[in-house]
Amino acid sequence: MTETAEVVIIGGGIVGCATGYFLARRGVQVTIVEKEAVGSCASGFAAGLLNPLYGDNIPGPLESLARESFNMHLSLAEEVADETGLDPRMEDTSSIWVAFNEAETAEVEGLFRLTRRMEGFPAQWLDGEDVRSLEPRISPRVMNGMRVEGTRQVSSYEYTLALSGAAEKRGAAIRHGTVRGLRQSSDGQVTGVVLEGEEVACDKVVIAMGPWTGQVEGWLGIPVPVGPLKGQILRLEVAGPPLEHSFYHSGGGYVSPKPDGLVWVGTTEEQVGFDDQPTPEARASILKEATGVVPALSEAKVTLQTACLRPVSEDGLPIIGAVPGREGVYLATGAGRKGILLGPALARATADLITDGHTDLPIVPFSPGRFAGA
Ligand SMILES: Cc1cc2nc3c(=O)[nH]c(=O)nc-3n(C[C@H](O)[C@H](O)[C@H](O)COP(=O)(O)OP(=O)(O)OC[C@H]3O[C@@H](n4cnc5c(N)ncnc54)[C@H](O)[C@@H]3O)c2cc1C
Repeated sequence: MTETAEVVIIGGGIVGCATGYFLARRGVQVTIVEKEAVGSCASGFAAGLLNPLYGDNIPGPLESLARESFNMHLSLAEEVADETGLDPRMEDTSSIWVAFNEAETAEVEGLFRLTRRMEGFPAQWLDGEDVRSLEPRISPRVMNGMRVEGTRQVSSYEYTLALSGAAEKRGAAIRHGTVRGLRQSSDGQVTGVVLEGEEVACDKVVIAMGPWTGQVEGWLGIPVPVGPLKGQILRLEVAGPPLEHSFYHSGGGYVSPKPDGLVWVGTTEEQVGFDDQPTPEARASILKEATGVVPALSEAKVTLQTACLRPVSEDGLPIIGAVPGREGVYLATGAGRKGILLGPALARATADLITDGHTDLPIVPFSPGRFAGA
């Protein structure tokens, strides 16, 4: 064994880096192992929208965890910015959901009723003229809309870097390498991780490998059904005054002005395995959707097209907690389309389990053992 750590975290995405930060802050000696570079996968290219109000399984089983995580972000982003000088650029957002016909109006009305019950997220019903008075460049075909304030957005790449930098400042080591397996004693206690040609000895391992987590089934002997769901985003340079609101349309399309001064438009959901290459087809379909909402975007210049892979589990819920039958092994993964939002909650819950043996975060529905009987 060439190196030792109390805890090895496999994966330098937002989940691994935030877990590293929480543990290092508690004085635990941590090594984060990353096969490419910190924030080089989905955590570095996500849209960075922090919306705990709706989305996959919200309302539903993810509701409480999403709200807890959202609240954690409000102080965490500032804390890691202070510790590192790297700014996650958290911003308040004004978001407008638009409807083009009666069916979409009914959908947005449903969201409106839901939002009005939430504290801290003022919502306003808009007719088409109201929407156009807030943004004259919006399509004349927009029939109705809803404006919501109080959600946030971040620059997910800077955030992930700030979390890893803050972890390092607290004594964590970040090292490059691909983990190929675990060392375990005959009674199931983890004793190290195996990289190419070397090993790191440790008592505990956190698996935060994002969409690659499915590879650990062979290491752990239990089903860990997590795989990739590709998504693409275009970053646009738009002439004229900046857009002041983010726009959302039925089916997941968005047009969102970002802290970098560009307008990000997305996204796709593609079941194509681990292929993470941008495609002309996605570019065309994203532009079609975005210019349907804001026709003036047809004049915009595409400055970058990105593609990356969301980690999605078989039941669409994250997987958080100790692996049954393996002493010292924890999973923190599968946060899907909401991984930036949920990152702090997955990370703090994992750190709690490691240092205290329990957590007050509501993670019971997300146990790693739940697929074993399937
Ligand atoms: C287009 C798009 C837009 C998105 N927008 C949003 C959004 O607006 N809001 C939101 O909340 N979420 C959003 N998401 C989801 C979010 O990006 C992900 O859920 C989140 O980044 C996952 O973080 P992670 O740390 O679990 O995984 P990742 O970021 O994938 O990190 C896992 C890391 O593990 C490393 N790794 C894997 N295997 C090994 C190994 N064997 N050894 C060493 N290292 C290894 C990988 O290299 C990778 O860096 C979006 C995703 C996409 C694709």
